[in-house]
Amino acid sequence: MKVLVAVKRVVDYNVRIRVKSDGSGVDTDNVVMSMNPFDENGLEEALRMKQAGIATEVIAVSVGDEKSQDTLRSALAMGADRAILIKADQTPEPLGIAKLLAKVVEQEGPQVAILGKQAIDDDSNQTGQMLAALLDWSQGTFASNAEFDGDAINLTRETDTGLETIKISLPAVITTDLRLNDPRLPKLPDIMKAKKKPIDIVDASSYGIDLSPRLEVVSVAAPAEREPGIIVADAAELVNKLKEAGAL
Ligand code: AMP
Repeated sequence: MKVLVAVKRVVDYNVRIRVKSDGSGVDTDNVVMSMNPFDENGLEEALRMKQAGIATEVIAVSVGDEKSQDTLRSALAMGADRAILIKADQTPEPLGIAKLLAKVVEQEGPQVAILGKQAIDDDSNQTGQMLAALLDWSQGTFASNAEFDGDAINLTRETDTGLETIKISLPAVITTDLRLNDPRLPKLPDIMKAKKKPIDIVDASSYGIDLSPRLEVVSVAAPAEREPGIIVADAAELVNKLKEAGAL
């Protein structure tokens, strides 16, 4: 079975985000970018499926500009067999990404598509669900464990109230939680080998899909600065301060 893994190039999670002075978005100039952390979990899971003999081929797909090739090279270094870059200068909204991934699914015929539960840049948490709906596939979101059992998956989901285990039939879309696994770090020989692995580059416009935006970003603002902390002399002062702040 082929497995498709969606990997997005995002601002690295260690970077302190700067909002553009005109409030139109986040400044990505000279900023370290890397693979969306949830997508690393997705890729790791697909690679484990291959090691376990469940998957035969792992295909990484990214939608973005030329620079997304770096993310795909990282995916190839981790162990993906091949990669597809869907080139789009303006990254489409989740619905557009889901439509493009659905086209790749039609062409490649995987039984499983693994996406992150959310991209850490837009925090949309939409693409996997939309992809499952467009394909009319089962979906198992926020997966923290996935056991393959014939043509079904026993999948544990991380929810706010605890762990939920569901059984879903293939073909299926899985979206990953960080606790699903510990993604591997590629070794130098793998990084060298990845340079020779193929990346197909396809123009997003060639799919004939309506990718026009449905949303208008009205403004982007940085979170309010946190007030500095204070040191209190004793418990009585702490209680007073909490009362003053209305917390007691
Ligand atoms: P989102 O719905 O934007 O929070 O993204 C959820 C997941 O969809 C991500 O973790 C990726 O697996 C996938 N995804 C979103 N945008 C892209 C993209 N531009 N290229 C590849 N995968 C993407």
